[in-house]
Order: sequence, then C-alpha cells, then structure tokens
Amino acid sequence: MQSFANLLAESVQRHGHLCAGQIIGVRMAMLGCRLVDITDPKAPSFRKKLMVFVEIDRCATDAIESVTGCRLGRRTLKFKDFGINAATFLNLETGTAYRIVSTESSRDLAANFAPDASDARTRQIEGYKRMPDELLFNVQQVRVRPDPCQMPGPPRRRVVCEQCGQMVRDGREVRRGEVLLCRHCAGESYFDPVDERQDSDPQADPGATS
Ligand SMILES: [Zn+2]
Ligand SMILES: [Zn+2]
Repeated sequence: MQSFANLLAESVQRHGHLCAGQIIGVRMAMLGCRLVDITDPKAPSFRKKLMVFVEIDRCATDAIESVTGCRLGRRTLKFKDFGINAATFLNLETGTAYRIVSTESSRDLAANFAPDASDARTRQIEGYKRMPDELLFNVQQVRVRPDPCQMPGPPRRRVVCEQCGQMVRDGREVRRGEVLLCRHCAGESYFDPVDERQDSDPQADPGATS
C-alpha cells in the first residue's frame, strides 16, 4: 500500500479538490484494507478480492474508490443509499468484513489536534489527518455475503421483461404473479416519460396546424 500522502494526492486529483471527505475517505479505505488483510488493493493479485459497500454518495466515496480501485463498473463497489458516512470492506476470499463509520464526535475533536492551524477549514483538515483511528472511526466486524448475482464476472441470470422486451440481468427482475417484469414496467421507475409533442411549442407543432 502506498503512503497516506501519496494516496491523498491521487484522490484529491481525481475528486477535484482537497476536503475533509478526502482525508476521511483515504483513511477509512486504508484502515479497511488493513483490517481485511488486503495489503495492496490495486495490485493485480488483489483486484478481485476486495468488495466495498459505501453508504453515501458524497466526497469520501470518491476517496474510497481511488484508494481501493473498487468500481461500480467492476461490480466491486456497491452503493447502499443510506445517507451514512460509512463503508464496509469485504475480503471475498476469506469472508472477513469490517464496517467503518465516521464518528460524529470527530468533527468537534478535530480542532484539538491542529491548534496551530490558522482557520477553521485547515483545523478540520489537519485535525482529521492527525487524530487517531479510534477517535475518527467506529469499527465493527460484520458478516456480509453477497449472492452470486452481486459478484463480479458474467451475468448469472438473464430474463426478458414480458411487457417491454428489455433484457434484465443479474436477477433484478420483479415477479408479478406469473409474469416477470423489469422494474420500470413493475411501477418502480425513477422517471416519467415526457410527451415531446405535448411539451413543445404548440406553434411549432405540425399536428396543431393540420
Ligand atoms: Zn470534496
Ligand atoms: Zn419492462
């Protein structure tokens, strides 16, 4: 594993700015890897051995992605939309997993570790760099067993939606009685279709003049 300074520099570059989230995310990822015995997560020998579940889509998540090399597109990064500054690190080979939560108390404690800093922002960033893991995080060993459809590799299951014909991979279809549907057709869509003819300028609508 590279040094904290190197990992932070890389993460800041990818993320676009230095922020408290980058410090917390880099430290969380380094600790998580250490706890599950992944010494160099981006080395080819470790690449498919680590899976990370992030619980928030904010700054620290970019840092965790940068340090671990785990990616949504590789199926090694899982997003649980819980709004909590926490992540679980799972060694897929040994099954060992630890969930690490950023403590709320660390926000106030940070200043104690950087009394020399000139402004509040620097105090927080420098404080987060210096404070011990025990104050920055709560750590808990957990059990998490992803099912085969969550694992990296080719899709384990393919189903065609019986309403729209779309292929649904990895068991994400919904059963309604005897019928298998994609989530859109099952009423779980996240968007409403826009009727372009209705929403455009009526003057420009050829249908309105004919
Ligand atoms: Zn940020
Ligand atoms: Zn469908």
